[in-house]
Amino acid sequence: MIAMMDILKELVEIAGDRVSVSPTERYCYRGDASQIFGNPDFVVRPESTKQVSRILKMCSKHLIAVTARGAGTGLAGGCSPVRGGVVLDMSGMNHILEIDIENQQVIVEPGVVAEVLNSHLKPHGFFFPPDPGSMTMCTIGGMISYNSSGMRCVKYGTVRDYVLDLEVVLADGRIIQTGKKVLKSSAGYDLTRLFVGSEGTLGIITRAGLKISPLPKTRKLILAFFEKADVAGQAVIKVFSRGINPSACEILDKTTLSVLKLCDPHLAIKEEGDMILFEVDGTEISTDEAATQIVETCQPLALSARIVSGPEMEGIWAARRLVGASISRLDPGKTRIYMGEDVGVPIKEIPELIRRVQQIAGKLDIPAMKYGHIGDGNLHVALFIDVMDEGQWEKLRLAADRIHRAALDLGGTVSSEHGIGLARAEYLPEQVGTETFSVMRSIKKAIDPKGILNPGKMGFT
Ligand SMILES: Cc1cc2nc3c(=O)[nH]c(=O)nc-3n(C[C@H](O)[C@H](O)[C@H](O)COP(=O)(O)OP(=O)(O)OC[C@H]3O[C@@H](n4cnc5c(N)ncnc54)[C@H](O)[C@@H]3O)c2cc1C
Repeated sequence: MIAMMDILKELVEIAGDRVSVSPTERYCYRGDASQIFGNPDFVVRPESTKQVSRILKMCSKHLIAVTARGAGTGLAGGCSPVRGGVVLDMSGMNHILEIDIENQQVIVEPGVVAEVLNSHLKPHGFFFPPDPGSMTMCTIGGMISYNSSGMRCVKYGTVRDYVLDLEVVLADGRIIQTGKKVLKSSAGYDLTRLFVGSEGTLGIITRAGLKISPLPKTRKLILAFFEKADVAGQAVIKVFSRGINPSACEILDKTTLSVLKLCDPHLAIKEEGDMILFEVDGTEISTDEAATQIVETCQPLALSARIVSGPEMEGIWAARRLVGASISRLDPGKTRIYMGEDVGVPIKEIPELIRRVQQIAGKLDIPAMKYGHIGDGNLHVALFIDVMDEGQWEKLRLAADRIHRAALDLGGTVSSEHGIGLARAEYLPEQVGTETFSVMRSIKKAIDPKGILNPGKMGFT
């Protein structure tokens, strides 16, 4: 077996001073925004595809685990190096290589932050629509690897719908390209889609060709308040059944609304209740028409409903992006733990999912805040506990398990957008079925036969 010092020497030959073994740096790279941590032996910040290729070739030869990392904002332990080895910090490969407005495409390196990309596209009147709450921090590579989504995905689709072409370095160092600079292609297996959502287990993404969209001319918000969260869920179903296509549809239950108000005490929301926040976009005429239709549809079920635009609307969106991370302001003695937090169901089952989550949290006497992208059936359940109390941890694990099983029972998914990582690995075979999972395992084995890429994740050893 090769000694650690020899591996370090080889890494330094490849990446020079962009290699670190300092205990402080290794500590900082232990994990992501979940509570799942590992201990990397080396941190490497590659600058080029060639470097990534040489690193993987070397790691493959010596059977060293390699875990890719974007910004580390993931919530499932995806970039936590649970088998040690090398953490590849891809955030330094952050160049926007091409903005091609005529073809409505961009080519970027994986470390580009989503919001930075959008700030470069805005002057051209374009944007990259997928918008996770973390978009001021998270990288395109991380978003592709989790097939991330966000508020606008109910109308615009998830990351998967925007990736046209990827450059990927495979476990043995080979560099492949999965597509072309075309909007559609029916040439062979769709490897682009295979790598989307693969969580760094099949290859390292070093370049991405993405589709972009024209910015809508106008946006408006509709705020509707309800006495009960499950009734709010019924209103969502009614809006979609009427053929209205909002550009966002978020639920914020009573507790979340109080956190929203704490995030911005000057917020232009005086109402109380469980809130649905719809956004519509398009032309002035089409947004006015859709906004009025949504108000009319909600009114019979709602306590009140009204339309908001301009700076008030931007203030509400800014606060909305902070709620998930601000829950501890409700009770500084408690911490939000990201478990059971990302379930999704067919939209018709939303009221039942809300009812079941309320029952689960109520029975276990554990505070739960409910919010999320309810328009695509995605509910974020924020469970928060005193982390020093082992009894509360027990209840938390039980609650998360029951929430996952409720989603599966309703024909849904244990993760709509945050991914499997380690946090939900045990549920993947159950969700997809053992035969399907064995096909996934065969793909992993064929592409990464030595199992060096992000080992331990998604239920692969
Ligand atoms: C406050 C907050 C709000 C959030 N809101 C949302 C939301 O609304 N919607 C949503 O979907 N998510 C959300 N997230 C989760 C997270 O931000 C997203 O999953 C994000 O896309 C992760 O990007 P990242 O760059 O931080 O990736 P990381 O966390 O660094 O990595 C994510 C995964 O991608 C892999 N990876 C990273 N780069 C590469 C690469 N170049 N090649 C191969 N694999 C790679 C890693 O190994 C890991 O498995 C939120 C997180 C926070 C903290």
